[in-house]
Amino acid sequence: MGAPDTTGHGTRHSSLLQDLEAITGTGHVLTGEGLEAYERDWRRRWHGRALAVVRPADAQQVCRIVQACAQAGVSLVPQGGHTGLVGGGTPDETGTQIVLSLQRLNRVREIDADNLTMTVEAGCVLQSVQAAAADRGLLFPLSLAAEGSCTIGGNLASNAGGTQVLRYGNARELCLGLEVVTAEGELLQGLSGLRKDNTGYDLRDLYIGSEGTLGVITAATLKLVPQPAAVMTALAGCSSPAQAVRLLRLARTQLGATLTGFELMNAFSRELVARHLPQIAQPLCTAQQVPAWSVLLEQSDEQGPQQAQQRLEALLAQALDEGVIDDAVVAKNLAESRGLWHLREAIPLAQAEEGLNIKHDISIPVSRIPMFIAETDAALKQAHPGCRLVNFGHLGDGNLHYNVQAPHGVGSQDFLHAHEAAINALVYDAVQRHQGSISAEHGIGRLKRDELVQRKDPVALALMKRLKAALDPRGTLNPGRVV
Ligand code: FAD
Ligand code: ZN
Repeated sequence: MGAPDTTGHGTRHSSLLQDLEAITGTGHVLTGEGLEAYERDWRRRWHGRALAVVRPADAQQVCRIVQACAQAGVSLVPQGGHTGLVGGGTPDETGTQIVLSLQRLNRVREIDADNLTMTVEAGCVLQSVQAAAADRGLLFPLSLAAEGSCTIGGNLASNAGGTQVLRYGNARELCLGLEVVTAEGELLQGLSGLRKDNTGYDLRDLYIGSEGTLGVITAATLKLVPQPAAVMTALAGCSSPAQAVRLLRLARTQLGATLTGFELMNAFSRELVARHLPQIAQPLCTAQQVPAWSVLLEQSDEQGPQQAQQRLEALLAQALDEGVIDDAVVAKNLAESRGLWHLREAIPLAQAEEGLNIKHDISIPVSRIPMFIAETDAALKQAHPGCRLVNFGHLGDGNLHYNVQAPHGVGSQDFLHAHEAAINALVYDAVQRHQGSISAEHGIGRLKRDELVQRKDPVALALMKRLKAALDPRGTLNPGRVV
């Protein structure tokens, strides 16, 4: 525990903290100063204060911690890599919530190459899961820019998407079984590696995407696929979102299931990367001009590299011929391919360097995206002259990160304070008109909880509340998030 109880909540809490330390062993119940990594989120948007941070070593310890906290009526905030973007894993400001860090549950329990599955603990960092699969010649295809620090438990709790959803699906589609500690502290043993199992309600799907509000994920059995024989990456420049959608249709026809990534970036996203991360290469740009829109395509082929390259080059040649794109470059080797991905994945960091912005993680049917962008860009620019739009995302999935940055020279805090509510209303109204979703992949957390009430089907919302009450009757698991 280290420091005395500085939270001011007296002996009831200090006796709970002693009980927790008896469960975890010395040094794994942290209090006092130096907890910023657990108390402040990646975006620096949420600053909480924890009663303590508890770091169990295994699922049995998690059960006992959950039981002790339930009995004491103290709420728990499950936390993995703390890279979530909606405030779900950050404790609130009251100093009464305990952060339950799953980071020490980081073992790979099993890889079954014949069954194409692996079983890993919740605190395994995504990149280490990918690496363990690759060591056996297999691919775990979940991939996102935070993969060096996010955990598989957090990925599943938020049903993360990322850059390969087009081909392999969200975290949900990549999970066959879960081990979960319920809100009552029981261990639900559901680590099945079965692709077919119709034995009643699907509890696994209930916990995936529940953002730590229904149970604590302690381990998961994940789907693997064989490593592709060749991965090819290209960057294309085009004049409009409508042209990018035409390119997507062409790529789907020509590349079929080998198309694994299709990412869109507007010029301002690339300008931000150039400004804040000038070491990153910027293909297709001149000193004077950045393409209005850029598309990053990835193809993962079961055939060899030569065939893959030919198919990709043929696609781009046809697109150029038909005037769908203005220019394109194919990565010649792994380093160039990584460079292209680096450019795309650096956008969140570059926009954070530019200052706080108003984020919208939205999805819309692909066919409606050009119309959505045209209408919403125009409406925002009219209502907030000079506002700057950082628009990038997973076009292949109909998922945009449609973010609004303060006009040049205007403080981002002041801009957010004055205009965030109005801008959210404008953007989410447009999303709803185009039959989209206000959260494509980041979840609801605390950020969008009130928005959800406004926008979700009331029957769905009522059922969600009933589920929460049934599975967490004391309301001690991640209260105030989602519902
Ligand atoms: P945390 O942030 O720790 O937690 C996220 C939520 O899950 C919280 O509500 C928390 O309470 C809960 N939780 C965590 N672990 C558990 C557990 N074991 N059991 C129950 N509940 C738990 N997301 C995408 O979907 N696609 C992207 O492309 C993407 N790119 C990103 C890029 C960057 C640079 C960053 C910073 C984030 C990005 N994200 C993206 C956000 C994404 O949600 C997270 O990166 C990741 O999925 C969260 O994992 P984590 O371990 O950090 O979870
Ligand atoms: Zn994303």
